[in-house]
Amino acid sequence: MSVRRAAFITLHACPLAAPGQGKSGGMNVYVRQLAAALGDMGMQIDIFTREHSDVFNRIETIGPNVRVIHIKAGPPDAHVGDLYAHLPEFLEQVNAFREEEGLKYDVVHSHYWLSSWIGRELSKVMGVPHLVTFHTLALLKMQSRAGEVEQAERPVIEAEVIATADRIIAFSPHERDAMVRLYGADAAKISLVPCGVDLSVFRPLDRKTARDRLGLNGDKILLYVGRVEPLKGLELLIETAAQMDSEDGVRVMVVGADVNGDGETDRVKLLAKERDLEDQIDFVGQVDHNELPLYYNAADVCVVPSYYESFGLVALEAMACGIPVVATRVGGLSTIIQHGSTGYLKPWRCPDAFANSVEMIISSDGLQQSLGEAGRKRAEGMGWDNVAAMVWDEYAVLTGHPTKGDNNY
Ligand code: UDP
Repeated sequence: MSVRRAAFITLHACPLAAPGQGKSGGMNVYVRQLAAALGDMGMQIDIFTREHSDVFNRIETIGPNVRVIHIKAGPPDAHVGDLYAHLPEFLEQVNAFREEEGLKYDVVHSHYWLSSWIGRELSKVMGVPHLVTFHTLALLKMQSRAGEVEQAERPVIEAEVIATADRIIAFSPHERDAMVRLYGADAAKISLVPCGVDLSVFRPLDRKTARDRLGLNGDKILLYVGRVEPLKGLELLIETAAQMDSEDGVRVMVVGADVNGDGETDRVKLLAKERDLEDQIDFVGQVDHNELPLYYNAADVCVVPSYYESFGLVALEAMACGIPVVATRVGGLSTIIQHGSTGYLKPWRCPDAFANSVEMIISSDGLQQSLGEAGRKRAEGMGWDNVAAMVWDEYAVLTGHPTKGDNNY
């Protein structure tokens, strides 16, 4: 018998929430797409997430073999920073649901530190293995940007779960090494499995058609995609545009939104104004995930200026669309992007270096094309079916049903 049924725990990142605004981003995409791909392969996945303000149905089937189960724990509009107190309540409700339905899971897979606490407890009750993907880690975030503040409980729980989980998925060697260095993790317990990309949605399209659809003229487009929050380093994007030899004929598009009312977009707009760039920057706001290929394909270059990314899904999506990426050399970005082949990796706080790479790319069609083609080729190894097969192998080994497991990531 092989592994059949997995419980995903994703307390605050509901796979039904639209990514690219507030706190909803790469983790929501990851949970939804990984579950969908495992479901397509025949595994039953129940995704447990917290009931929030936009929920219509308590239980929602989102694809073959995949259900989202909304669990009541705390006020629907509670801030993620206040959820720690509601973990026991969430656990209790998951257990009640499981017993009601007579469900037995072969493995528990938790996402993010809050969920990892629940995953650990749930796996103990059921006597099954616990696998965790942290997505981000407090100590790494705090090291990456001065001023990042985290709940005191977070690094403590992360350290406990790193010590007790049966298996940990890291997105990059950088994340794995940081777990060993900062949390004393046993490296042998950590598997490298990347995030994935939907290669049929994120694919090269005709640039002119994409630009026409978006009402763009012949300007060169620098594209940013992602939540608008301090860790994303949008000031570096603005400084890059300001440092370019000639800003004429160049537009910057910012796709994504902030947490409503936190003022981050206003801060970035003010910076753009101070640099006399306000007429060249479009703040597009949040865009539906499946519409994004139009934006990537309309762009000349995708800029990822983050202080830190444990993976950096946006870079992979741009590459899958055949668009060169210029990014900071941090976290997972240094693994996904092959410097000089699929884009350029630059040190943080170097707008000159960023501007230089961007200018090289936008002034040479040949370079743009060769970087784009190499990016698409690299992305083709990271389709969700490949990634889900690697994750399935991890479950299989944990539950004593090893498959061949050729993870060459
Ligand atoms: N995204 C989106 N619409 C937007 C902006 C972003 O669907 O308007 C998606 C984007 O395609 C990507 C995710 O949000 O899949 C952001 O993931 P990433 O890993 O880059 O950043 P995170 O949010 O995890 O920090």
